[in-house]
Amino acid sequence: MATDLAGFDTLAVHAGQEPDPTTGAVMTPIYQVSTYAQDGVGGHKGYEYSRTDNPTRTALQACLAALEGARFGLSFSSGLAATDVILRALVKPGDLVICGDDVYGGTYRLFDKVLKPWGMNFRYADFSMADANEAIPAGTRMVWLETPTNPLLKVSDIQAVALRCKAVGALLVVDNTFATPYFQRPLALGADIVVHSTTKYINGHSDVVGGFLAVNDAALYEPLKFLQNAAGAVPGPQDVWLTLRGVKTLGVRMDRHQSNAEVVLAFLRQHPDVARVYHPFDSPVARRQMSGFGGMISFDLRGDLDRARRFVAATKLFTLAESLGGVESLIETPALMTHASIEPEKRRAAGIEDGLIRLSVGIETAADLVADLAQAFRA
Ligand SMILES: *Cc1c(COP(=O)(O)O)cnc(C)c1O
Repeated sequence: MATDLAGFDTLAVHAGQEPDPTTGAVMTPIYQVSTYAQDGVGGHKGYEYSRTDNPTRTALQACLAALEGARFGLSFSSGLAATDVILRALVKPGDLVICGDDVYGGTYRLFDKVLKPWGMNFRYADFSMADANEAIPAGTRMVWLETPTNPLLKVSDIQAVALRCKAVGALLVVDNTFATPYFQRPLALGADIVVHSTTKYINGHSDVVGGFLAVNDAALYEPLKFLQNAAGAVPGPQDVWLTLRGVKTLGVRMDRHQSNAEVVLAFLRQHPDVARVYHPFDSPVARRQMSGFGGMISFDLRGDLDRARRFVAATKLFTLAESLGGVESLIETPALMTHASIEPEKRRAAGIEDGLIRLSVGIETAADLVADLAQAFRA
């Protein structure tokens, strides 16, 4: 284990991984296996059945936990599978959960359409505006925070929310998918659990769907680990291996996402057809709690829904697609795509206008990205 080495990029390449003891293979093999031979009953080498544990998955869990500065990590078959396990392991029917008001649309759907009918109570709050003390009443069981948010990139003060959570005995979960541990470490700021869609920046190549959670407290880890095995939404070894490969370049990619996004941002800010640009670093809290902001930019395009539809169809380098965080640039309209599962009134009340465009700025040549957007504005 290389976890005693401090540097982020060193951990991304080495943590949780050693040359294979039997062959010397430098990279962790894909242990494409469901079960493990036992010498006698119970005489195994730490692995019995791959739903419970698999060596490739163990390597990824240790690597990602090291990047978040966590003692424990658990990988899942999707970000929402990780979310589902956190709620079902730690929240009971009747408990109150306070959730950010513009969380990922699929998170909202899971809370509102699956877990609420099952008896959990959800309230929604704008943690970037509200005094955390008012948004989180005594008796709250869990606070679910996304910062920066998707798609409006609003930033909340993790440390302030964590203090309030401690005071009322609530657990704080931070979805760190957008920032990644390269730019933001929620556990160090007081969060209890960090959750990721590794589908996005952590894997970074738009070829795997996966999820991850990190936690320091063994008393929280135990029920989460139990449910990972008991419910079984685990990733397969091939997906885990691709993610392990992808995360090695996380720091290098995030630096390029960021420098490209800066160029695109400067272009958008001066364009007459752009009514408003949303960007995390507009907030002083972001500059304090994040060391960078990555490649996500949203903006309001002047004109109606039809103009937005034409704009996203006209880009050539920016591919029209859901998801984000890959090496390739993507573009989408949240109102029609990622956030279409939220009722229109609720969506607009949360500030997601019909003309909102979300960019995931990739690692291509920055001038090509600007040229592509420029021609789409003329289309
Ligand atoms: C994509 C995403 C999720 C859900 O993850 P999946 O891997 O798609 O299940 C959760 N939170 C955020 C911020 C996301 O972008």
